[in-house]
Amino acid sequence: MAKMDTKTNTGEISVEEKLRALYNLQKVMTEIDKIRTLRGELPLEVQDLEDEVEGLETRIHNLNAEIKNLNNAIQEKKNGIKEADLLIKKYESQQSSVRNNREFESLNKEIEYQNLEKELCKKRISEFEIEMKAKQEAVANSQAFLEERKSDLESKKKELDNIVSDTKEDEEKLKKKAKEIEKDIDDRLLTAFKRIRKNARNGLAVVTVERDACGGCFNKIPPQRQLDIQSRKKVIVCEYCGRILVDSEL
Ligand SMILES: [Zn+2]
Repeated sequence: MAKMDTKTNTGEISVEEKLRALYNLQKVMTEIDKIRTLRGELPLEVQDLEDEVEGLETRIHNLNAEIKNLNNAIQEKKNGIKEADLLIKKYESQQSSVRNNREFESLNKEIEYQNLEKELCKKRISEFEIEMKAKQEAVANSQAFLEERKSDLESKKKELDNIVSDTKEDEEKLKKKAKEIEKDIDDRLLTAFKRIRKNARNGLAVVTVERDACGGCFNKIPPQRQLDIQSRKKVIVCEYCGRILVDSEL
């Protein structure tokens, strides 16, 4: 059914007034939709930033623990060098009181082994130091990124708080306004409005004719039909999408 029969009797609200009320109601509902969209996205953005901050903090914490482990490992290797030095000294002093060449050579072997141990310790230390430097750089980078994210989060949170407190008031006002407008629309039309709005993806139940086409689905409207819409004597809906059509002058 493309046309709803709405005869104007004396004392009743004219179709034109009904159309105007519907169009006004649509505008108010679109405003409410905008507020909800605005609010609907911000908490998600805040949540994303909170997750990111938490992730960075964990990363920095883990890197610092790894740096601490490397520091301990370096200290261990340094102690290893000290121990080797002590052993070398001990073996060298023992060499001065050996009884034969075989004992001297045997101590020489021990000294050689301890020198190899020292070299190995030094090699490990330089490896650990390179690893540690890379981790320290990663900490510095993550720290800088974290500070950035934290300030982003703070401003987004503030924005959200403001929007929530601001829009609560605005939304209430708009809802009140919608209720007022609804009084000028009969139940049958109002139910149709709500049903169309619910099914329309962008929440538009009432659209204007734009460039000879429906403002909701953009299908062409024949000239005679456009004249009918302009006459404002009947409620006319789009044949394609079912939205209520009004002329852009309304
Ligand atoms: Zn349409």
